[in-house]
Amino acid sequence: MQKTLEQAVSCMGIGLHSGQKVQMRLCPAAANTGIIFKRLDMGGRAVSACLRNVADVFYATSLKDGDVEVQTVEHLLAALSAMGIDNAIIELDGKEVPILDGSAAPVIFLIKEAGIRTLAAKRRYIAIREPIKVEADGKWITVLPSDHLTIDYTVDFDHTVISKQSIRFRFSRDEFIRELAPARTFGFLSEIRQLLAMGLAKGGCLDNAIVVNDHRILNPYLRFEDEFVRHKALDLLGDLSLLGGPLLGHVIAYRAGHSLHTALVGAILEEESNWYETELSRDVLKTIAPNPRLKTLPIRA
Ligand SMILES: [Zn+2]
Repeated sequence: MQKTLEQAVSCMGIGLHSGQKVQMRLCPAAANTGIIFKRLDMGGRAVSACLRNVADVFYATSLKDGDVEVQTVEHLLAALSAMGIDNAIIELDGKEVPILDGSAAPVIFLIKEAGIRTLAAKRRYIAIREPIKVEADGKWITVLPSDHLTIDYTVDFDHTVISKQSIRFRFSRDEFIRELAPARTFGFLSEIRQLLAMGLAKGGCLDNAIVVNDHRILNPYLRFEDEFVRHKALDLLGDLSLLGGPLLGHVIAYRAGHSLHTALVGAILEEESNWYETELSRDVLKTIAPNPRLKTLPIRA
């Protein structure tokens, strides 16, 4: 069944890119509402979280409908989707979702505080019929038919500190909370001057991002040895929620990012023959084997 929040919950933070202080309130919504962002500073005008409204995928995913824009939605969307929240109104008094600690963990905390309510409408999953692949500049992402959401993600930076990391994540809510939600966003010090010149990363600091210079990680510690690739899988889950329903498919991503993630969502929805809607019964879900412990996979040549 579809779910929403039991009650509203608020927090205050700054936008990673805008640097602006913003108050965010997560509110319950009726069945089939989806996730809708409301800009209280624009008279409550709204933009819904769906592919049609994707405006910018440069360093973060932004949504825009007319002149109503909301930036950096991906970590919030990942947390909502992982917690099974199909319907919510997200009120903001600024244009960017607060970055909080750079991960999805604080949003998980907020959702748990609010509580989760089951609604009287069936959830519709989006299942894949045919393999679909999107590629650009040696980077690619593909989705294969599967009765469960699984993500294989590989990052491969030309960098002494990060280089190649791969994970396999077989989706479950608890596994997301433990293994992906705490993974923080990251950036390279060498790019920060350029980002600032473009009006980005103005709210970034070591409290909300991992920062890497040419030789080392500037933060005192990592939350996981492979925190970088875990964060990319978190970003992907957020971007996949723009499909309009939870995905049943096996996604394999190699050096991807918001641009390829949202391109895959577009490629899936482009042809109706690519996918179908399905309602999974609780009995079917119970038969799905528990997740094996998430671990770094050996790199395939
Ligand atoms: Zn991110």
